[in-house]
Amino acid sequence: MNEVKTPKKPLAFYYMIVLVVILLFNLLAMPQIVEHSVKEVDYGTFMSMTEKKEIGKVQIQSDEIIFTDKEEKQIYKTGVMTDPELVDRLYASGAEFSSEIVQQMSPVMSFLLSWVLPIVIFILIGHFLSGKMMDKVGGGPNSMMFGMGKSNARVYVQSTEGIRFGDVAGEEEAKENLKEIVDYLHDPGKYRQIGASMPRGILLVGPPGTGKTMLAKAVAGESNVPFFSMSGSEFVEMFVGMGASKVRDLFKQAKEKAPCIVFIDEIDAIGKKRDGQLGGNDEREQTLNQLLTEMDGFEANNGVIILAATNRPESLDPALTRPGRFDRRVPVELPDLKGREDILKVHARKIKLADDVDFNKVARMASGASGAELANIVNEAALRAVRDKRAFATQADLEESIEVVIAGYQKKNAILTDKEKRIVSYHEIGHALVAARQTDSAPVQKITIIPRTSGALGYTMQVEEEGNHYLMSREEIENKIATLTGGRAAEEVEFGSVTTGASNDIEQATKLARAMITRYGMSDDFDMVALETVTNQYLGGDASLACSAETQAQIDKKVVELVRLQHEKAKRILSENKDKLDELAAYLYDKETITGDEFMKILNGSKTEEENAGIQI
Ligand code: ADP
Ligand code: ZN
Repeated sequence: MNEVKTPKKPLAFYYMIVLVVILLFNLLAMPQIVEHSVKEVDYGTFMSMTEKKEIGKVQIQSDEIIFTDKEEKQIYKTGVMTDPELVDRLYASGAEFSSEIVQQMSPVMSFLLSWVLPIVIFILIGHFLSGKMMDKVGGGPNSMMFGMGKSNARVYVQSTEGIRFGDVAGEEEAKENLKEIVDYLHDPGKYRQIGASMPRGILLVGPPGTGKTMLAKAVAGESNVPFFSMSGSEFVEMFVGMGASKVRDLFKQAKEKAPCIVFIDEIDAIGKKRDGQLGGNDEREQTLNQLLTEMDGFEANNGVIILAATNRPESLDPALTRPGRFDRRVPVELPDLKGREDILKVHARKIKLADDVDFNKVARMASGASGAELANIVNEAALRAVRDKRAFATQADLEESIEVVIAGYQKKNAILTDKEKRIVSYHEIGHALVAARQTDSAPVQKITIIPRTSGALGYTMQVEEEGNHYLMSREEIENKIATLTGGRAAEEVEFGSVTTGASNDIEQATKLARAMITRYGMSDDFDMVALETVTNQYLGGDASLACSAETQAQIDKKVVELVRLQHEKAKRILSENKDKLDELAAYLYDKETITGDEFMKILNGSKTEEENAGIQI
């Protein structure tokens, strides 16, 4: 069951082509070869030519007579008649009886021409094409017919510019974990002596752009071994069996080069759960089976370490993650504040920067950014400096780049109408004011209301609290929902009407409220019952409901109640602080940008009645 034989579909496909070629060959080419010079005439012509003694050679067959003129320039043929004296007359006319006018093709010859020749031609073409493919892929010749099913794994032989652990900032736990592998590759004997065997496969799990590929390369770089890399999607081919043979080939190469690292990116492309699919996917399943077989076929400690990366670990087939296969899982999470600062510093080494750059501040502003985004931010800053014809990038460059990378470029020609600009000002200040009044601290780093290419009309840079924060209380989530509704609430309080600008807020608020009820056990009715399971932890965190239809209806009602309550709260806060709302919105409308400090200064500027009013929630 596990053993995958030679590709089936492709061969059938080629046999078809052979057949078609042969048929065409027989239909078109053969008759022409035989008949191109024979002229068919009627029996009368033959008789009169005999009488005029114009016949050169003649050959009488059972169903036709073939003859030539005296000069033997033209071959004629005609039908046979019952004509007993024909031979005598021909003899009298001086014709030469011959059996060699038209070389009737021998059966062997005709078989060769019509069947063997096309096949030979076809194989030659096949070899020619496969030769070309091999050149492109860079693999050796031989192996499979037509060169399909060769793995085109890229081999990175280590050079001085190889990536080391030092290039991967943050991710200390992941590095710690992988250092063991490096140690093993340096000195496998040490492990063998004590009888310890390395895990065969290590799964790097985390959101996109967090440095999984980098870490895998760094392991190879540190241990100075060859690095084979292939993406899971490259295995899945059009024909069943191709992927499996690629896997086989990859592992054959790897075993020859051991010790080495084999890295399979996006392993979920082949490693998806096999069950519960309509129709299934033969090719993917065969590829996965082959991978499993290869991993089982390893003797322990043979020096081939397989690293794989995925950002949807929950979709992997359990057969892949069981002991003996990918039995070690290394989480590669989004960097925390310290990690972001380190990543910025690593990438800043590549560009010229002003001396006064405050990496901590930039890292704080870029909360939630992945390593790849941070690398991009540093590069954007350098590009900005070039655009402004400066020799180095400054703090301002970095800060603007954060917005560019996260929210897109400023849309220079998208002019908001005056009314729209006022609405956006109120909307953004609404969020910030509700947040500020609930926590009594600066809620934002900065708000801008310059339209971005991403479609956002404004951009709010949240403050990240000092220190890590792993738990959220019920009150905190409720406050967050209130803050999310604050934008829409401000529009209502000021303009008495609503716009489409709140769609993203609505989505987020709903998600949070739903999670409170279905996953965090924060509703009175359902106690600690999981009503939903997260299916996509690293890519947006989708969830699927796991409860009866009646419960679903109840959940929906609860979600609406929860959001409505917070929305009311936000409106109340804004109405009670209407003069501050107006003042702040006017400031933002004017300047198009407001920093957290300016915001707090205005908010606390003339605290007299409001403070006494005491916004108690
Ligand atoms: P993944 O494989 O997790 O999607 P990559 O390893 O391909 O991410 O990372 C993409 C780019 O992001 C890298 O080339 C690097 O420039 C940058 N990067 C990501 N994480 C880090 C990190 N921890 N330290 C330094 N650079 C990083
Ligand atoms: Zn909003």
